[in-house]
Amino acid sequence: MTQVVDVVVIGGGQAGLAAGYHLRRAGLDFVILDAQPTPGGAWQHTWDTLHLFSPAAFSSLPGRLMPPQPGETYPDAAHVVSYLTDYEQRYELPVHRPVRVAGVHRDGELLRVGTDSGTWLARAVISATGTWSRPFVPAVPGRADFQGAQLHTVEYGSPRDVAGPGPGVPPGRSRRARVIVVGGGNSGAQIAADLAYETDLTWGTPREPRYLADDIDGRALFDHATARRRALDEGRTDTGGVASLGDIVAVPPVREARDAGLLKAQPMFDRITPTGVAWADGTTAEADAIIWCTGFRPALAHLAPLGLRGPRGRIPTAGTQAIGEPRLHLLGYGDWTGPASATLIGVGRPAREAVRALAGRLGAA
Ligand code: FAD
Repeated sequence: MTQVVDVVVIGGGQAGLAAGYHLRRAGLDFVILDAQPTPGGAWQHTWDTLHLFSPAAFSSLPGRLMPPQPGETYPDAAHVVSYLTDYEQRYELPVHRPVRVAGVHRDGELLRVGTDSGTWLARAVISATGTWSRPFVPAVPGRADFQGAQLHTVEYGSPRDVAGPGPGVPPGRSRRARVIVVGGGNSGAQIAADLAYETDLTWGTPREPRYLADDIDGRALFDHATARRRALDEGRTDTGGVASLGDIVAVPPVREARDAGLLKAQPMFDRITPTGVAWADGTTAEADAIIWCTGFRPALAHLAPLGLRGPRGRIPTAGTQAIGEPRLHLLGYGDWTGPASATLIGVGRPAREAVRALAGRLGAA
C-alpha cells in the first residue's frame, strides 16, 4: 500500500511532535512515523532518577506549557512522557506507530519513504530520529578484554544494574561494587551521583568537569542559545554552543553528592585491563563495571540512500535544510540543526522555521 502526503515526519519524539504542531497550523497534509510502540521518544528509556535540568515551564514545546510536576522543581522523565503523550493527543497529531523507516529514496518529484508497514510518497521529509538509538563509546585500548560489565547510558537504569541484584552483578558477591563512570557531561555527573552512595566509584572525565553556577539552571543554557541565534541572524560572530557556558547543571542530586565529597573526577584513564583501568603513570583501579556516559551520534541510517553524509556522520545543512536535498529538513540531533535544537524548549523555533520553508516551497509548487 502506498500513500501520498505533503510531508512525512520521521520520528515521533519531541522534535517530530514540534514539527507536527507547525505542520498542522500550516494546513499541510502530513504523517508522523515513529518506531516506538508508545509515545515519549527517548524519554521512555532513561534511567530511573533522571530529572530535567530546567523547570517545567522552561521545558515546553510550542503551543502548550509543560504543567509543573507536583513536589518537583525539575520534572522527571515520566512526567515528560506524560506531557508528550498529552501533546500529541491534544493537537491530534497523526502519529503512526510502531512504524520503522528503513530508507528514504528519490522518486522523481517525490521522496519515497520505505517502512516496515508500507510506503509513503512525500513532497518533503522532516527527519527527527534523535540520537538515543546510536550510543557512542570511544575506542580505548583494551576495551574488548575487560571481564566485567560494560553499559552505555542507554542501558543504565539504576544502581541495581551494577550494585546488585542486576544483570552485571555476579551472584553471591558480598563487597561493594567497584564502578567506573566515564564522561564529564550531564549524564556522567547524574549517573555518578546516582551511584556514589552505593558503590566504590571512580569518575573519569577527559577534562575537569565544568559546573554551571549553582544558582542558575538549564534556563541559562536556553538564554545563551537565544543570544547565539540572534548573533547568527544579525551576521555577528557566533557566540559558541551552549557548552561554552559549562557542561553540568548542578541539579540537586548532583549538588548533594558533590558537596558530600563523593563526586571527585579523575583524569581519563589511558587503557583498560581485564580487571579495571590504568593510567600512563602506572596507577590502576580495579572495576566490576564500566558505565560509558560518552554521548551519541545522530541516527541517520535511513537517509543513507540519499547519499548526503558529510563529516562526523552528519548531513550538511543550512539551518534545518539539507544542502544536498532541499526537500529534506533535519530537526533535533544537536546544535548543528539549530541552537538548542535537541532540547524541549529549543526545538520549537527550528521546527517553525523548517515548516515555514517547506510551506513556502510546497505552496509555490
Ligand atoms: P528522540 O526523543 O530520540 O525521538 C526520536 C524518535 O524517533 C524515537 O521515538 C525513535 O524511536 C524514532 N526513530 C528513530 N529512528 C527511526 C526510524 N528509522 N523510523 C521511525 N522512527 C524512528 N533536554 C532538555 O530540554 N532538558 C533536559 O533536561 C534534558 N536532559 C537530557 C538528559 C539526557 C540523559 C539526554 C540523553 C538528553 C537530555 N535532553 C534534555 C536532550 C533532549 O531533550 C533529548 O535528547 C530528546 O529526547 C531529543 O528528542 P528527539 O525528538 O530529537 O529524539
